[in-house]
Amino acid sequence: MNLITHGAYLTQLSQFRFINQYLVQEDDGLTLIDTGARGQTASILKAAASLNAPIRRILLTHAHDDHLGSLDALHVALPDAEVLISARDARLMSGDLTTDAGELQKKPRAGRAKTRPTRLLTPGDHVGSLQSIGAPGHTPGQLAFLDTRDGTLIAGDAYQTFREVSTSAELRWRSPLPAIATWDRATALASARALAALRPTRLAVGHGPVVLHPQQAMDAAVGRAERQLQK
Ligand SMILES: [Zn+2]
Repeated sequence: MNLITHGAYLTQLSQFRFINQYLVQEDDGLTLIDTGARGQTASILKAAASLNAPIRRILLTHAHDDHLGSLDALHVALPDAEVLISARDARLMSGDLTTDAGELQKKPRAGRAKTRPTRLLTPGDHVGSLQSIGAPGHTPGQLAFLDTRDGTLIAGDAYQTFREVSTSAELRWRSPLPAIATWDRATALASARALAALRPTRLAVGHGPVVLHPQQAMDAAVGRAERQLQK
């Protein structure tokens, strides 16, 4: 099991060295952010045990298979843990792929889960020390989470950090999956710009290493995506 600690509160776990989950320390235990693809349950429970703290909450950034794949198994193992996701992506998770007025009229991709959320989030809601930030585009209801204690941003797939920091609005030939899986690239770009404006101290994403002092790299990534989308 590969666990990496970043700062005082964040622990990163990786599945296949490609899909990240995070454990965030709170006074009452841990908040798990994302569950990985299927088969990650034992590793997540082991990671929490190694931190000597119970998982109190399971928080999802968005409703794709590589982030909610182990949710159902974890919910069985941790029936008392809260399950939280945006109200918008909860619809995707339950199989409702309809779009709303004002959204891009394109069917979003989604992963399914049987587990029902215990709480539906809208941007701005707080979950322990984390403030939720709307980051739509990759999915219609993706949320990022800012740890208000130290400025760490857990950005889901709004950014990826393989090779270099880039947004999911930008199609990158050497790591194209986040952009290909992105529902609305123009909205994803606007979200990436808004996340960069938060001036996070640390950037933690679904795919790629955690980046300390990411500001310059995030600004550059937004600039590249702007130029690509203008073409
Ligand atoms: Zn992903």
